[in-house]
Amino acid sequence: TLHGLIRHDDFQWHLPMTGDMRVPAIVYGSLELVRAMEDQALTQLRNVACLPGIVRAAMAMPDAHSGYGFPIGGVAAFDPARGGVVSMGGVGFDIACGVRTLLTGLTRDDILARREALADALFHAVPSGVGQGGRIILKGDEMAQMLEGGAAWAVGRGYGLPADLARIEDHGRMPGAMPGHVSPRARERMRDQLGTLGGGNHYLEVQWIERILDADKGAAFGLREGDAVISIHCGSRGLGHQIGQDFIDELAPGSKARRKGKAAAPNPYLPVPDRELVCAPIDSEPGRRYLGAMRAGINCALANRQVITHLVRGVFADLFPAARLDLLYDVSHNTCRAERHLAEGKEQTLFVHRKGATRALGPGHPELPDTLRATGQPVLVGGSMGTASYILAGTAEGEARSFASACHGAGRSLSRTEARRRFKGRDVVDTLQHHGIFIRTFSDRGIAEEAPGAYKDIDEVIASAAGAGLAVPVARTHPLICVKG
Ligand code: 5GP
Ligand code: MN
Ligand code: MN
Repeated sequence: TLHGLIRHDDFQWHLPMTGDMRVPAIVYGSLELVRAMEDQALTQLRNVACLPGIVRAAMAMPDAHSGYGFPIGGVAAFDPARGGVVSMGGVGFDIACGVRTLLTGLTRDDILARREALADALFHAVPSGVGQGGRIILKGDEMAQMLEGGAAWAVGRGYGLPADLARIEDHGRMPGAMPGHVSPRARERMRDQLGTLGGGNHYLEVQWIERILDADKGAAFGLREGDAVISIHCGSRGLGHQIGQDFIDELAPGSKARRKGKAAAPNPYLPVPDRELVCAPIDSEPGRRYLGAMRAGINCALANRQVITHLVRGVFADLFPAARLDLLYDVSHNTCRAERHLAEGKEQTLFVHRKGATRALGPGHPELPDTLRATGQPVLVGGSMGTASYILAGTAEGEARSFASACHGAGRSLSRTEARRRFKGRDVVDTLQHHGIFIRTFSDRGIAEEAPGAYKDIDEVIASAAGAGLAVPVARTHPLICVKG
């Protein structure tokens, strides 16, 4: 057998309950992807299935690989009424990291005519790199307002258009944020980072649509073969990371606070078998506090992508005054959200962790804006800076099977260390340039870590997500310009 997995059908594999597992685990993916999946990712999935209050199954999307505690590409839903937990490692350190895609109305040829100037202007307008700050400094109450208001706050401040909000999850503002539970250190890290991409895996990409794969949904999304789109991948910068770290330090033994003797008693929030699974009951004081801080982190990421959009529009206004950069959609892929789902025969409120997984609402879902109600939610999936990326749409089957979730990327096939060993940043940039993909970055090391060869085959991942019914492919895009973190 493959890692003890039992084949359910071509794209679905089951790990039956063993040991302390409270539910089975499900892996979505083709034989080829499942065969190549790291043991560590499967071990982590099994560990997740042991957590209190987990419902139905711990799930791995086709792009899954190992992460901190939970696998990246992991989905797990918890019932607060049965001791269900929220876990920092289940959300991911970059809270609400996500992707937003903008239409341009321009063609690939329009972009090609000014590609060099556009690449330079985008690189200049949108600060990138680890720890890199930007030109916006949040003063006084602005930080708290941003953490409460998300992209809606940003639009109110003149960054972008009111019409953008309908195309963002939660209309651009996650309710229930508690900025008061975001530490001074986390705020300090964010003070000058609004409107910045961050390091490594984050990108601002101009892509062209190579292929429309679903004509009706493609038309409804405003996508046309040969057109250019813009894809922005980034999250909550230093603030999100610090929130995760703060709560792990507080709740995990061996952390600084614990060494100071603040909590000598055994830690109820640290389940065996892996300390990285540190968590708190949803219905507990620290659980509520983390959720409040995490939602503030979500708003931070939504505001960040909104401000970046504004900066990108500024660049296009200069170079392509006729272009209109309408927002197709903005979806986060590192979250824990309270949602209504049908489970065990009844509709319940569950806390769904999607870590390196996107929500994928099917047609007719009441949370979709009217303009997307008939098609289902746009699902935005990155591939790599040298290969295809995809736009898909959520499905009714996906809603039923995976708590309305799908893959978020190709997923790593090599660790960062291994990628650095195999690739040289400069070589990767030169090769891509030769193939007509212009990279702009401050970090050769980042490029080596993010080389296309460090990722799984995106076409195989998408075929798996589609084969498993989690989402339907609508368009396949290819990079023209990539500003890399
Ligand atoms: P993550 O959020 O897990 O860091 O990354 C999400 C996905 O983005 C990765 O699994 C990978 O497939 C994709 N990705 C990473 N770098 C790039 C890039 O430069 N361009 C595009 N289009 N996708 C990328
Ligand atoms: Mn991400
Ligand atoms: Mn991220």
